[in-house]
Amino acid sequence: MPVRADRIAADIEVIGRFTHTPGAGSDRPTFSPAWRQARDYFVAEVERAGCHWRVDAAGNVHARPRGVDWSQRVWLSGSHLDSVPRGGDFDGVVGVVAAVEVLRAAHEDGRHDLPLEAIVFAEEEGTTFGLGMLGSRGWAGTIDAAALAALRNRDSKNYWEAGADHDAAADRLAAERLRPADYAGLIEVHIEQGPAMWKHDRRVALVTAIAGRRQYAISLRGVANHAGSTGMNDRHDALAGAAEVIAAVECLPDLLGDHAVATVGRIAVEPNAVNVIPSRAEFTVDLRAPDDHSLEVGDERLRALVAAAALRRGLEHEIVRTETLPAVRLDEKVADRVRAAAGGLGLSLLPEAVSGALHDAAILAPLVPTVMLFVASRDGISHNPAEFSRIDDIVDATRLLAGVVASLPD
Ligand SMILES: [Zn+2]
Repeated sequence: MPVRADRIAADIEVIGRFTHTPGAGSDRPTFSPAWRQARDYFVAEVERAGCHWRVDAAGNVHARPRGVDWSQRVWLSGSHLDSVPRGGDFDGVVGVVAAVEVLRAAHEDGRHDLPLEAIVFAEEEGTTFGLGMLGSRGWAGTIDAAALAALRNRDSKNYWEAGADHDAAADRLAAERLRPADYAGLIEVHIEQGPAMWKHDRRVALVTAIAGRRQYAISLRGVANHAGSTGMNDRHDALAGAAEVIAAVECLPDLLGDHAVATVGRIAVEPNAVNVIPSRAEFTVDLRAPDDHSLEVGDERLRALVAAAALRRGLEHEIVRTETLPAVRLDEKVADRVRAAAGGLGLSLLPEAVSGALHDAAILAPLVPTVMLFVASRDGISHNPAEFSRIDDIVDATRLLAGVVASLPD
C-alpha cells in the first residue's frame, strides 16, 4: 500500500484552513462551523477512498472500507480534529490524516477489505466544554448522557444541544457504546507535543505508557495583618507558606523517576493587597507520572510538604484531590506488531516514549489493546500556531500504521 506524502501534506494544509482565526492558527471548537468543515473534509476523503461511514451517538465519526461491514472485527486508528483556541495545524489532525491515507492507499491498491476503521473523536481538547476526551469517554461509557448534558460551551449550549446538528444524540448513547470485541486494537498516531524527540532526532517513536494525572486544590489559611507593624516572627503568612510548597513541588519529580512532572499552574491570594500579610492562598498542583506507584509516592510527599509548611507557620491547610486518572500501560502485543512492522520498513530501532499528555487512546486503552505512535514536534512547540512536524516523519508513522493494520492478529 503506497503511502503518499503529497496527499498527507495537502490534507494538513486544507484542514488548517478550516479555522475561525485565519492566519492565526487553528481554532476549531467541537461542533463549530470550522470543525464541521474539517469533519466534512474527512468524510469526503474516506468516501473517495471507497469507504462507508457513520456517526455514533457521542459525535465520533467512523469510516470503514465498503467491503468491511460494521460487524466485522477491525483495527481502529484516528485522533481528533478539534483544536484549542489558536492552536496548531498538527495536533490531532496528524492521527486522522494517517488513518485516512492508509484507507486511500489500500483503495488505490484494490484492497477493499482492509480491516481498518478510521475514527475522528469528538472534543478531545477540553477547551470547548471544560472537560477533555468527551467523544471517546462517551463512546467508551466512562461518562454518561446526564454528565454530558451538564457541560456547556461558551454559547451556553450543552453537549447534546451543540451536537444535535452533527448527529450526536443522548438517547442513542447507551445502545451505541463501544463493543471492545469489534476491535483488534487501537493505534493512535499523534505529535509528541514535547521537545525530547526533536532534540534527540527521534522522528517516530512507539509510546509505551501514557502518564497518569492527579490534580489537587490546596488551600492555606493564615492571619491577615499589617505589613508594617507585624514582626517577622509574629506572622501567619499564607502566601509565604504557599511559596515554600510551590518551590518544593518543583523538586518533587526528582524523587519520582523519569518522566514525572509537577506543576503549580494557578494561585489566588487574599486579600491580595500590597500592605497586608496574606490570609489565604489557594493553588493547584498537577502531578503526572508514567506509573501509579510514582503517583502514590508523589501524593504522600505532597501532603507531607503542605502539612510541614503549615505547621511551621501556624497555618490551617486543606488538600482536595480534584482528579485521579491512572497511568496507562499500552499493549505489549500490539507494540510487538509495531516493532515487527518497523523492522520491515528498516526502522528497526524504533525509539520508545512516554506520553505526558492525555489522549483519546488513554480512554480506550482499558477496553481495547492500544498503542500510540508519536511524531516529533519541532522544538516541542504545541497548542501554538508555530506547531510543526515534518511530513516525512508523518509518512513514516503512516507506513508503520499501514504495516500493522494490513492483517488482523490470529
Ligand atoms: Zn491532540
